[in-house]
Amino acid sequence: MSEEIEVCIVGAGPVGATLAATLATAGVRVAVVDAAPLPPMELPEFDGRAYAIAATSRHLLDAAGVWALLPQAPGPIRHIRVVDGAPGEPASRLGLDFDAADTGGDPFGWMVEARSLRVALNARMAGLEHLTLYAPAQADVARDETGATIRLSTGQSLRARLVVGAEGRNSLLRRQAGIGATRFDYHQLGIVGAIAHERPHEQAALEQFLPNGPFAQLPLAPSAGHPNASAIVWSEKRALAERFLALPDEAYGREIERRMGSHLGRVTPIGRRWSYPLAAMHAARYADTRLALVGDAAHGIHPIAGQGLNLGFRDVAVLAELVVEAIAAGQDAGGAGLLARYQAARRPDALLMLGATHALERLFGNSLPPLRIARRLGLAAVQRMPALKQFFAKRAMGFGSATGGLLEGRGLVSLPR
Ligand SMILES: Cc1cc2nc3c(=O)[nH]c(=O)nc-3n(C[C@H](O)[C@H](O)[C@H](O)COP(=O)(O)OP(=O)(O)OC[C@H]3O[C@@H](n4cnc5c(N)ncnc54)[C@H](O)[C@@H]3O)c2cc1C
Repeated sequence: MSEEIEVCIVGAGPVGATLAATLATAGVRVAVVDAAPLPPMELPEFDGRAYAIAATSRHLLDAAGVWALLPQAPGPIRHIRVVDGAPGEPASRLGLDFDAADTGGDPFGWMVEARSLRVALNARMAGLEHLTLYAPAQADVARDETGATIRLSTGQSLRARLVVGAEGRNSLLRRQAGIGATRFDYHQLGIVGAIAHERPHEQAALEQFLPNGPFAQLPLAPSAGHPNASAIVWSEKRALAERFLALPDEAYGREIERRMGSHLGRVTPIGRRWSYPLAAMHAARYADTRLALVGDAAHGIHPIAGQGLNLGFRDVAVLAELVVEAIAAGQDAGGAGLLARYQAARRPDALLMLGATHALERLFGNSLPPLRIARRLGLAAVQRMPALKQFFAKRAMGFGSATGGLLEGRGLVSLPR
C-alpha cells in the first residue's frame, strides 16, 4: 500500500526544505526525501557558505516559519559598494554606492550562514504535522498521467500528485526525464570563508571586480569571539585559487587585504577555507509529466551577485502559490496546466539573472585598458542616475517582474484540515 500525499520533494537542500516547510505550513501533505542524513549538515565542517538573503526571500522564510528559528541573528546589509579594481591597487573612486536609506530604509538583505539556515530548516521540518522526512533514503520515481509512485530504499512507498526535483545541479530526476541542460564552466574556484577585521564593517558589503574574477566582502553579525567579521566570496582562476587555499593564515590574510583594500584594517582568517568550482547551468525545461524542477536542479549561476539561492527561493514561492491555489480550488496539484504556468513564470526570471551574472563576469573579467575605463565611467554614470540606481537596488532586494504575494510578505491561505 502506498501512502497518499500531494507533493513529494526529492532533495532537502535549502530550496527543497523551504518548499516543504512552506507547503506543509499551509496544510499541504508533503514528503521530503534526501540521499544524505540531515543532522550532520548542521555542523560547522559541512558548509562554509554564508548566504546573502534578499528582502523578498526573507518574506518567504517568514511565511515558512523558518526565519524565527535561525539560531544566530542575521547580519543586515545596509550599504553596497561596487568597484572595478586590480589587486593591490587603490580602489577606483569611480564606483557605485547603494544606501538602504535611498530605498526606504529597509536592508537590501541579510547575511545568514548556511549552517544557521540548516539548523532552522531541520527544526521547522521536524515540527510540521503535514510533513514527513525520509533521510537518508533513495527515491525510485515512476511518473504517469495521473500521478507519481515513489519507492523508497527504506521499503516505504508513496503516491503523489506532483514530484519536485530539488536535488541540486546533478538532479537525477532531471536526467531521468531526458531534460537537457546547457552548461558553462568559468574555470574558476569560489573561495569561501569568514574573516575577522580590525575596523567595523558598518553593515556594508563590497563587490570588487578584479581581472581573475570578482571578490565580495559581506558583513556578518557580531559574535562572541568576533565583534568585526565578514564572509568572503573570492572567485579566482582555478590554479591560482589552489595556491591561495594552501597558504598559511598570515599570507592568506594579506592576499585578501590586497583584494579588499585597507578600509577594514588588518584581516585575520577565521576557521576553515572552502572552495567550490564555478559553473553556470540552465535546464531546457523546468517541468515534465508530474514533475517540476526547482533551485539548482533547474539553474545554476555565478555567485558574482550572491543570487543563486534567492533565485531558487523565487521558484519556491511561485510553485507553492500555484499548488495551494489548486488544492484550495479542488483542482489537481500536479496537472499539466499548473506546470506550464510554473515554467512560464520562472524561466524568464532565471534566464535574465543567468544572462546578467554571466555578462557581468565577462565584462568585468577583462583587463583591456579601454574596457576598464569604459566600465569605470559606466559605474560612475549609473551612480549619477537615481532612477537607474533605484532599479538595481530593488533587484538586489529581490524585487522584480517575478515578485508575487509570498515574496512581498503576504502569507499563503491555510487549507481546511
Ligand atoms: C561559492 C558560492 C557562494 C554562493 N553564495 C550565495 C549567496 O550569497 N546567496 C545566494 O543566494 N546563493 C549563493 N550561492 C548559491 C547557492 O549555494 C545555491 O543556489 C543553493 O545551495 C541551491 O540550493 P538547492 O537546495 O537547490 O540545492 P543543493 O544545495 O545542491 O541541495 C541539494 C540537496 O539534494 C540532495 N540530493 C542530491 N542528490 C539526491 C538524490 N539523488 N536523491 C535525494 N537527494 C539528493 C543533497 O543531499 C542536498 O541536500 C553560492 C554558491 C556558491 C558555489
